[in-house]
Amino acid sequence: MKILKFGGTSVATPENVSRAVAVIRRTWSPGSNERAPAVVVSALGGVTNCLIAAAKAAAAADEDHMPLWRELELRHKVAARQLGEEDSDVLVERIRFYFSELRDLLHGVSLLRECSPRTLDTLMTYGERMSAELVAAALRGEGLPAVAVDTRELIVTDATFGRAQVDLEVSYPRIRERLEQHRNEVAVLTGFTGATPEGQTTSLGRGGSDYTAALVGAAVGAEGIELWTDVDGVLSADPRQVPDSFPQSALSYAELMELSHFGAKVVYPPTIHPARSAGIPLWIKNTFRPEAAGTRVAEEAPPNEHPIRGIASIHRVAVMRLEGDGMVGVPGIAMRLFGALARRSVSVILISQGSSEHSICFAVAPEDTSTAREAVEEEFALEQRAGLIDTLVVETDQSVVAAVGDQMRRQPGLAGRLFRILGREGISVRVIAQGSSERNISLVVDGADETAALRAIHGAFFHPRRTRLSIALLGPGKVGGAFLGQLQAAIDRLRSDEGFEARAIGIANSRNMVLDADGIDLSSWRDRLDRAAGFDRRAWVETLAGAPGEIRILVDCTASDGTWEMYEELLQRGVRVVAANKRPFAGPLERFRRLRTAASGQRDHLFFEATVGAGLPVLSTLHDLLLVGDRVRRIDGILSGTINAVLDRLSVEVPFSVAVRGAFDEGLTEPRPIDDLNGGDVMRKLCILARLAGHEIEPEEIRVEPLVAGEEWESMSLETFWRELPRLDEELERRRAEAEIRGCRLRYLAELDDRGAKVALVAVPPEHPAHGLSGPDNLVAFTTELYHQTPLVIRGPGAGPAVTAAGVFTNVLHGARMQRGS
Ligand code: ADP
Ligand code: ASP
Ligand code: MG
Repeated sequence: MKILKFGGTSVATPENVSRAVAVIRRTWSPGSNERAPAVVVSALGGVTNCLIAAAKAAAAADEDHMPLWRELELRHKVAARQLGEEDSDVLVERIRFYFSELRDLLHGVSLLRECSPRTLDTLMTYGERMSAELVAAALRGEGLPAVAVDTRELIVTDATFGRAQVDLEVSYPRIRERLEQHRNEVAVLTGFTGATPEGQTTSLGRGGSDYTAALVGAAVGAEGIELWTDVDGVLSADPRQVPDSFPQSALSYAELMELSHFGAKVVYPPTIHPARSAGIPLWIKNTFRPEAAGTRVAEEAPPNEHPIRGIASIHRVAVMRLEGDGMVGVPGIAMRLFGALARRSVSVILISQGSSEHSICFAVAPEDTSTAREAVEEEFALEQRAGLIDTLVVETDQSVVAAVGDQMRRQPGLAGRLFRILGREGISVRVIAQGSSERNISLVVDGADETAALRAIHGAFFHPRRTRLSIALLGPGKVGGAFLGQLQAAIDRLRSDEGFEARAIGIANSRNMVLDADGIDLSSWRDRLDRAAGFDRRAWVETLAGAPGEIRILVDCTASDGTWEMYEELLQRGVRVVAANKRPFAGPLERFRRLRTAASGQRDHLFFEATVGAGLPVLSTLHDLLLVGDRVRRIDGILSGTINAVLDRLSVEVPFSVAVRGAFDEGLTEPRPIDDLNGGDVMRKLCILARLAGHEIEPEEIRVEPLVAGEEWESMSLETFWRELPRLDEELERRRAEAEIRGCRLRYLAELDDRGAKVALVAVPPEHPAHGLSGPDNLVAFTTELYHQTPLVIRGPGAGPAVTAAGVFTNVLHGARMQRGS
């Protein structure tokens, strides 16, 4: 015979009850040789909470409980009408009777202005009594013989109201005898309910119907105990916190015990013991998808590829730490501490003691916080006065996150792995505890980090090859637009080769912004952006920073001066930043320092390779040289592909203004070519290089010889600019011709050495590495201690949207891989 338990949602509405009835029908049909199953029911979903609220309202001086009472009565009467079929009048009458009792009881409470735990148990368990009647009637209506059974007649408990202890020796035979009488009809038993030997109604603790089912199963030696609920089984994590959690097909009793103890609400923890002692498998199944396999819980669960089976969490715990010099080497402190807590009935969720014995740390439920504090301070008052033990340190609003799995025993280094996973998310672990069974590692994190911690651990253990990579782009201009195109083209490859689910969650230009945590369609983002609302910095930052468990990257392809403050905030909140924008790194030194500090706690969180040499590996090469202990003596660079393309075109036939126009038409210049020609761009790049090479330099200290300069040029419209530009042709031609005569070529050279940094138009001789440089190419020559005879030269295309975007993309991938730890 089987025991089937239906939880609150499974009987919440008449439609749901019909589904439950269908499940029962699949198990048994009248007239078969098999014994009828016993069914245990919870109250209709939400009813227990509502009864408690009514009791509280009745006890409160200024509240009226009657609206709640009416609401409940209506709900049950409607259900009775629908489910009762032929005997619906009788059923409605029964319900009316229950509600008149309830009204009297609530009235009593309101007169006394007090609801004792004993009264509350009587009130709360009405829900189960009524639902048992309703379900029994529904079964009869479907032609299945059924009878409601009040478990107060069977389950005998002590008088711990609210969470009564069951006397198994007395209860088991009673259950057995009673069910013997219902071999050919479905007994529908009230869950959650018991009674003292004197007949006082008790409850078995919130969620206790599961326990009732296990008790009944153990009493009759059932072949299986099935808990029918609203999810496909025990999931790898709470689906409300981890959306991609999935059902486990099998668990051991011990694993389920750990998971439920550490907050997996799906099964009430005391349920496991009776089933396990009687060796009866527990099933967790979905009433709304009976075809789903569900979870089978037994002594052993077959191992699978995952080292952990699930993660769970308890919110809002208080973590307490007792420490002091007087604790070291003194035996019996722990015993006294936990003895004092036990005497006050405080249950300890987790304990951790450093091997120095200097401190003991433990966690308790929020409602036990003040009792626990009192108990400890009372116990150690003498030591505290003598200064041997410090005042108890209490931190509230903490969360315990537990990873559970029998196979953890065979996996060394799991605690370290958990630390690394959380470290990468910027989540700090307050306490760590490992059960001696080694099937559970529990970590305490700040309450605000709980969901992020669950998602990160879940992602790393269960989907190690599938990580969400969420990107928000500022500045979808030429480079930014090219980046989005490259991203779109790479999405499938990133998924299959790298395991990244990449998507853009934000795109913003100086006017509009699109934010979409589900990902923006990259084939139509332009239209969407045009129609979108204005830029909202707060929403932008919160969307990026508030996506825990994902890799999040801000990509800045603007040329804006104002984005750096956003970097700082995002870095501090665990978001990575990839920039093609030079200004945040080439502004005041103080700003550069602040950004590096913001990123320094989070190694490899800030990338700006594309600010110098577009896609060329200039900064990473410099970084690596310094890392291996090399020292930079000088840097020579052609850092503006644009200017180089212009200079390269100059000839007797092609004057300066025509060369500039040509470069502009090919998209090689900034939207306003003056921004290239004034040398500011090269100055910024040299500033970044100098700073990375270890020079604490302010931008003003770099001497710049601009090709075109002056307020007059800066404020010109583009049209005027083109008209005026030929004014400069003569001078440039003179210098070009002069250089040519000496076999030299004009190059716009950035130089850094111990004396300082400068940018100037120089006629370089044929032996200079920049002499042969053509078109928009860039070149950087590092002369270092290691490379002192001939410099280390990096050369290649250094301008243009596609290569710059590729530089950005490389950084994005690098950052994502670093975060995932691959
Ligand atoms: P019932 O009323 O059927 O007893 P509960 O609400 O008590 O159902 O428990 C089922 C709920 O537990 C699910 O709807 C789910 O939201 C929650 N839950 C939390 N953690 C888990 C988990 N690890 N696996 C499955 N469900 C979980
Ligand atoms: N109805 C009770 C509760 O809400 C018992 C249960 O659902 O298991 O706690
Ligand atoms: Mg439950």
